[in-house]
Amino acid sequence: MTTYVYDFTQGDKDRADLLGGKGANLAEMTRLGLPVPPGFTITTEACREYLAQGSEPGELRVQVTTALRHLEDKVGRQLGTRRDPLLVSVRSGARFSMPGMMETVLNVGLNDQSVQGLAEEASDERFAWDSYRRLIQMFGATVLGIPAEVFAAALDDAKAARGRASGGGPVADVDLTAEDLRALVATYRGIVEERTGRDFPQDPREQLDLAIRAVFDSWNTDRARLYRRRERIPQDLGTAVNVVTMVFGNLGDTSGTGVAFTRDPATGAPGAYGDYLQNAQGEDVVAGIRNTLSLDDLHRIDPLSHHQLLQAMRRLETHYRDLCDVEFTIERGHLWMLQTRVGKRTPAAAFRIATQLVDEQLITEDEALQRVTGDQLASLLFPQFDRSADDGAAARALTTGMAASPGAAVGTIVLRSADAVAAAERGERVILVRRETNPDDLGGMIAAQGILTSRGGKTSHAAVVARGMGRTCVVGAEEIDVDEDTGTVTVRAAGRDPVVLQRGDEISIDGSTGEVFRGAVPVVASPVERYLEEGLDAALGADGSGRGLDEQTEGLVRSVDRLLRHADARRRLRVEANADVPDDAARARRLGAQGIGLARTEHMFLGERRALVEQIVLAEDVTERDIALDQLLPLQRDDFRGLLEAMDGLPVTIRLLDPPLHEFLPDHTALSVKIAVAHDRRNHGVPVGFGDEELAADERKLAALERLHEANPMLGVRGVRLGLLVPGLFAMQVRAIVEAAVGLVREGKDPRPEVMVPLVGSVRELQIVRDEVESVVRGVTELAGVDLDVPVGTMIELPRAALTAHRIATEADFFSFGTNDLTQTTWGFSRDDVERTLFTTYLDNGVLTISPFETIDADGVGRLVRIAVEEARATKPGLELGVCGEHGGDPESIRFFHDAGLDYVSCSPFRVPVARLEAGRAATGAAAGSSTR
Ligand code: PEP
Ligand code: MG
Repeated sequence: MTTYVYDFTQGDKDRADLLGGKGANLAEMTRLGLPVPPGFTITTEACREYLAQGSEPGELRVQVTTALRHLEDKVGRQLGTRRDPLLVSVRSGARFSMPGMMETVLNVGLNDQSVQGLAEEASDERFAWDSYRRLIQMFGATVLGIPAEVFAAALDDAKAARGRASGGGPVADVDLTAEDLRALVATYRGIVEERTGRDFPQDPREQLDLAIRAVFDSWNTDRARLYRRRERIPQDLGTAVNVVTMVFGNLGDTSGTGVAFTRDPATGAPGAYGDYLQNAQGEDVVAGIRNTLSLDDLHRIDPLSHHQLLQAMRRLETHYRDLCDVEFTIERGHLWMLQTRVGKRTPAAAFRIATQLVDEQLITEDEALQRVTGDQLASLLFPQFDRSADDGAAARALTTGMAASPGAAVGTIVLRSADAVAAAERGERVILVRRETNPDDLGGMIAAQGILTSRGGKTSHAAVVARGMGRTCVVGAEEIDVDEDTGTVTVRAAGRDPVVLQRGDEISIDGSTGEVFRGAVPVVASPVERYLEEGLDAALGADGSGRGLDEQTEGLVRSVDRLLRHADARRRLRVEANADVPDDAARARRLGAQGIGLARTEHMFLGERRALVEQIVLAEDVTERDIALDQLLPLQRDDFRGLLEAMDGLPVTIRLLDPPLHEFLPDHTALSVKIAVAHDRRNHGVPVGFGDEELAADERKLAALERLHEANPMLGVRGVRLGLLVPGLFAMQVRAIVEAAVGLVREGKDPRPEVMVPLVGSVRELQIVRDEVESVVRGVTELAGVDLDVPVGTMIELPRAALTAHRIATEADFFSFGTNDLTQTTWGFSRDDVERTLFTTYLDNGVLTISPFETIDADGVGRLVRIAVEEARATKPGLELGVCGEHGGDPESIRFFHDAGLDYVSCSPFRVPVARLEAGRAATGAAAGSSTR
C-alpha cells in the first residue's frame, strides 16, 4: 500500500520531493527536538493522484483517519469536540517555495460546539469567536470560492457599527467585542448559506477533508501556474498538505507571531533579523496588514521567548549550514516553530553570505560556489542611481521606505496590476505603487520596473516575491497614501506640505536604500560591473581614484571577486565570447573572455557593402564577380584586423558568411513595381526617369531573383551552401583573414585566427571548403614568408551533421555546436517566429516548460550533441569541441555542456562572467539554478 501520510516524527529534510519543503523541514525540526506543534504531512504524490483522477486515492481517507487519531492521542484532545477541542491548520507546502501562491486554512475544527470549548479553555470568549469568524472567512474564500471581499465588507460593517455604538468612527478589528464577533459569525454563515445554498459545515472531519482538497486544487490556480512558469518550477510536481495542531498568536499581548531570518536577507549582514506582530495570527505578518515590531522589540516584550528563538535559529543555521528563515508563534509565552527553510535572499546577500560561511568554516569554497548562481551575478550588474550626477535628487526626495529588493528603478506610477501589464505591453516603464500586494498582483509585479508599497515589512508579500524575481522593491513607505479611486499617491512627510502625485507621474525608487524620488534620477554602472570591467583595485577605489565604497558594497565586491576566482580555478570549460566588432571583443576580454568563439560576418556586408554582395551573387560573368570581390577584400581585411588586434594572443573564430541568400538580394516586389511603372510610362510616352540600360539591368535582376527565389529560405541557400554556389566568396573572406593576420604578425603581434564553416551537413561540403581555405592560407603566407597556423573547423547545426560527426571530424580541427539552428532544425520550429506564435500555448499546456531556444532541450537537441561528441572523439580524440548558440550563456545549458564533455562555451560579452561562474559551479557538481527558490 502506498504511504500517503507521514507523521512529523517520520520524515526528514531530504524528503522534500515527497513531503514538500515545509513538511520535510517541519519533520527535520521535530527530529532536532525544536518545539514544533505535532502534525502530519499528506504527500505530493497524493496531490498528483488527486489532480490526475479528480478524486482522492482511496487509501488517503483511511490514512488521514489513522494519522489524525494518533495526533489526537498525542495531544490528548479531539478534533472539534465540545470540551478542549483540537484545532488544526491545513497548509500547502510544495517542493519549491511559492510564497503566498497556494492556500492555507487555519482553525479547522471550530463549530458551534467547539467554539464554546475553546472559549472556556482559553478563558477568552472574544478570542474564540474571533478564531471562528477567521475560519469561516478563510474557508469561505478558499474552500467554497466565495469572493474574499464579501467577507471583508461584512467585517468593515461590523467595525463601523461598533464605532457608531461607541459614538465615533470605525474601530480596528482588535476592538471588536466578543458579542460583535458572535454576530459577525452569524453574518458570515448567512453569506455562506446564501452563496452556496448550505450552512457552513459543522462536521470537523468534513471541514478537514474539504480544506485538504482545496489545498490540492490551489496547485492549479492561474497565479500559481504563472509563478511556476516564471520560476521554472515544473507544473506537475503537486503540493503536499500539512495538517498541524493549531497554536495561537492571538491570545492577547503575551502572544504573537513572526518571521525571522538568521542573517539579513537583503544585505547579507550577519545577525538575526525579523518582524514580529503582537496578538496576531497566521499570515498577518506576511500580508503586511499592520506594521511590525523588530526582534529587539520582542526582546523587551518577552526576553525568554526571544532567547529561545535565537537559540533555535542558531541551531537551524548550524544544521542547514546556510541562512534559514523561520515562522514562529508565541502562545502565552510559549515559543512554537511553525516553519523553517533555507531562506530566499537577494543576489548581493547570496554572495556575501556564501563567503561569510566559508570564513566561519561552516562550508567549503566549493559549497560557497554552489550557493550562488549566474543569474544572481547577472542581476548584480544592474545599474544604480548616481546621486552625484543629480544635484536636484535630494530636493526631489519624497520619502524613505524599507529597502526590500535592490536595484534602481525609474518609471511612471501605476496603481493597478492590470495597468502595469497593459503599460508594459506598450513598452512603457512603470512603477507599481500599492498599499500592499497580494498574490493576484504577480502579473503586475512582473511587468513593472519596480514595486513600491506603503505597508508591510521586509517579509511582506511584495518584498518576498520581488526579491525572488530580482525586481527592485521598496515596502512600508508609511508616509505614502495610495488612493486607487482618485488615481493619486499623496506623500505626507513630517514637517512638509503634502505632495500629491498622479497616476502617470514619473518616480524613481532605490531598492538598496528605500528612497523614493520624484522624477528620473540618473543611473550608473553597479560596483560589481565596475569590478568586472576595471578590476578589484579600481572598484574598491584603491587605485588612487578616491572612489571609496561603503562597507557593505566593499564586502559584496570582495565576495564576487573571491567566488569568481574560485570558479575560474575550478572550471574545465573555457569561456569565449560571440563578438563581431572590436569594441565588443575588447569588452568581452575585459570581462574574462578567453577568445572569440563566434565572429559572425553577416553585419560586415550591410549598408553600402550590400550592393557589392548583390553584384557578387547576381554577377553574370566571372569578371563582374571578381571586381566586386576585389572591392570587398580590403574592407573585410580591416574588419578582421580590428578583431584580431583586440584579442591578440587569443583564438578568434571567424565564421564564413552564413545568412540566406535572399537577405542580399533586392526586394522582389519593389523591383517588379519599378519595372512595371517604367513600362507603363514608356507605353504612355511619359519620361521613365532612368535609362534603358538601367531598365534592362533591372529586368535581368528580376529574372535572377525569380530563379533564386526560395519558399523556405532558412532551409535554403545558407552557410556552406552559399559558399559552394558563389565561387570566390569564401576565398575572399579567408584571404582577408589571413592578410590581416600576416599584417599583425609583421608588427610583432600574435593573431590567432580560426576559420569556421557554417551549416555543414555532409563531410564533403567541409572537405571542399577546407581545400580552398588551405590553398588560400598557403598562398598568402608563403608569399609573405610568414608562418601561420589557421585551424579550420565547422559548426554542427544540423541533425545530419551531428549524426555523421564521426565522418565530419576527419576534416575538422574543431566543432562548434550552433545550438540555435540545431534547435530549429531538430524541432522543426522557426526560430524567428515560434516563440511569438506558439510558445505561450505550449508552455500553458505543458508541452514545454521553457523555450528550447533559451535552455538546451537535453532530451532531443542535447542527445544529438552527445552523439556528435562521442562519435567525433572516437574518430579524433583531441578534437576541440565548443558551443556558440545562445545556450552558451544559459546557466542550465552550461551545466549540460560541461557534463557532455565540451571544451568551451561562447556567449555574448555581457554573459561572460555568468558563464565563468556557472562553468565553475558545474565543475563542483552543483545543480543548475538555486537551491533556495
Ligand atoms: C547557431 O545557429 O547556433 C549559431 C550560433 O549561428 P546563428 O545564430 O548565427 O545562426
Ligand atoms: Mg546558425
